[in-house]
Amino acid sequence: MLVDHVPDLDVTRPRTIPLGRLSDKSWPGPLSADGIEGRLGEVVAALDDYYVSVDPRAKTRCIDGRHDPELDEANLGPQVPGGAPGSALAYRLGVDKDDLTRGTFTGDAELMIEAYMRLGLSPGGHRDDLEQADGVGCGAIDGLQAVLDCMTNPHLVEDHKRLVKTILDVDFNRDHYLRVMGAGLVLQSRSVAYFHGRGEILDLLERKAPGSVSVLRGRHCEAFVVVNLVEGTTLSSNRFAADLGGPQAFGYDLWRSRQLVQALFPLPSQEVDRARFIHARVMLTIATLMALTDGSLQVLLRLPADA
Ligand SMILES: [Zn+2]
Repeated sequence: MLVDHVPDLDVTRPRTIPLGRLSDKSWPGPLSADGIEGRLGEVVAALDDYYVSVDPRAKTRCIDGRHDPELDEANLGPQVPGGAPGSALAYRLGVDKDDLTRGTFTGDAELMIEAYMRLGLSPGGHRDDLEQADGVGCGAIDGLQAVLDCMTNPHLVEDHKRLVKTILDVDFNRDHYLRVMGAGLVLQSRSVAYFHGRGEILDLLERKAPGSVSVLRGRHCEAFVVVNLVEGTTLSSNRFAADLGGPQAFGYDLWRSRQLVQALFPLPSQEVDRARFIHARVMLTIATLMALTDGSLQVLLRLPADA
């Protein structure tokens, strides 16, 4: 019963709005959260307590909900899919004016990491302590091929568009959506060459920004996806999972993508680039969730008090 989960109307606090399951269909990913709806009310009521202020100097984190032993709640960076290298594919699909038949992900990621550093943003990424026995790693980097497959899968496209539209709300633009989708299809035709050598990204990140790569522990147990629009805040993912006794959350700080595009494309003439980058970022996030989960996770939108 959705009615049970409607948060109280305290206008001074951010609002958490439950949006139900990611999908009523079955997605290709292995991660499942069937039965978690019984704990939804509890999570909606307490979610705000798990959001803390971002430390602007702290390294960018992945949306991953797994345990990061080095995480310090007083110095949390914002969460975006795949950390900093994850932005590279969004740039390629949404903004890049080069021929899509050239370039590599490694090259694109290197440029993105350099841009982060010029702008004083701290890039970050992660490895995993487990071998990919269950086929799930970071997902946002090592599974990029599967992510692109999901995004361009005709059976998933309706779900994909619905979720992108929901998350972008009034900013959704059909032309941008279709353009990024088309770029994804073109890139897919040569994806083996494009993604070749992507394993080197984290070495490169470590070289350029020492200490920027963490190692996440254990298995994926995400049961929730939180899209956070409250600027300057991020999920204390370790504490969330510890208090819930197992279930983790994918946390996507969408406000950070909006902030990042302002830094990357600051000129008034770059408004279209900003909008396309945001579309590509959200589109790849949904496709990443399609590659990682079976669609049963619960989605929560966290909005500023005055939204
Ligand atoms: Zn990750």
